[in-house]
Amino acid sequence: MWSVLKFCLIAALVLAGAWWLAALPGGVTADAGAYRITASAPVALLLLLAVVGLLIVFLRVLGGLRRAPRRFAGWRSERRQQAGELALQRGLVAVAAGDASGARAAAVKARTLLGEAAFVQWLTAEAARLSGEGEQARLAFEKLTQSKEMKFLGHQGLLRESLKAGRVDEAARQALAAEEAYPGGAWTRGQRLALAVRAQNYAAALRLTQEPHERAALAVAAAQTAETPKLALGFAKQAAKAEPGSPVALAALARALRAVGKDGAARKTLLHGWKIAPHPLLAAAWLAPGATPLERAQAAAQLSAARPGHMESELLLGETALAAKLTGEARRHAEAALKAGNTDGRAKAILAALDGKPAPAIAPAWRCTACQAQTAEWSCTCPSCGRPGTLTPTHPDSALMATENG
Ligand SMILES: [Zn+2]
Repeated sequence: MWSVLKFCLIAALVLAGAWWLAALPGGVTADAGAYRITASAPVALLLLLAVVGLLIVFLRVLGGLRRAPRRFAGWRSERRQQAGELALQRGLVAVAAGDASGARAAAVKARTLLGEAAFVQWLTAEAARLSGEGEQARLAFEKLTQSKEMKFLGHQGLLRESLKAGRVDEAARQALAAEEAYPGGAWTRGQRLALAVRAQNYAAALRLTQEPHERAALAVAAAQTAETPKLALGFAKQAAKAEPGSPVALAALARALRAVGKDGAARKTLLHGWKIAPHPLLAAAWLAPGATPLERAQAAAQLSAARPGHMESELLLGETALAAKLTGEARRHAEAALKAGNTDGRAKAILAALDGKPAPAIAPAWRCTACQAQTAEWSCTCPSCGRPGTLTPTHPDSALMATENG
């Protein structure tokens, strides 16, 4: 409706204009040398309008031609940017796939198209790292640490390269710089934890984790290596707090308590530990090293009374009876341990010793929850994968008890 009205209005105006133009009186005369041009006023006005129109079109074309090179340059730069970004994307995928030559080709292309941008430096460094060119990678990562936004990746790369080359001190410095560049990052904390564990700085490692199993193991190791008995007790208490049911933590706490003269508290701790999860480590801490075999057998009876009939109680009684040459007792308890489900060979070893037969192999007492490696002795870190706090008792009963009460 409106468009019809608008059309009618414009048509009326054009008609009125044409009518007014045609009705203009007079004429225009132009002299040029011997020539004279004469035209009526409407024709002259139309000609003037046509000349002005042509002039406008000419100026527009001229301006377009003048801007053409700049527009072309802009278009080219956009194309370069797009091609550079594509090269970066391909490089990123090649790095993730571990394709060294693909990453290198993409890095060269990206550098040609985008220059020394930080992302290009990262790709160059990663390509060198994948190709095994350590020094080149180090230099490229070093350059990347100058970038405000990507300096973390520079320090991360330098840390990895340092670890690969076995430069632990340099790796520790880079870990600190990475923490400064990106505070609170989980990756950096994990690296710092691994470095502290590797340097056997268990107190520092303890400050870097909140995982109960890691805290318990690191605190036990810190207690074992502490400079004073008082410091050792502090760490042992932290271990028992992190994993209240852990025989490792409770045995460490008992030893630390005894070292500061708190014998009663040490005994109480071990009895409590035996009650919730009987374990050879608790027994080892309970039995005084200087005692006679008979005294040890008597002490074993006191501890095992906290969990009468438990497989570990029977084994402890059997082993100490054997050492004290109480053969009848030893046999009775070894058989009771077998009945209670002992399968790791310890009960059979008592019987073999009583019968004068060669001792059977004893199954490893600890298993790593991370790499499944088995080991006979407990240690803060897994001897196979090096992670802290991953060793758990292989015997299902001990493990179950530790979990139930932990
Ligand atoms: Zn492991």
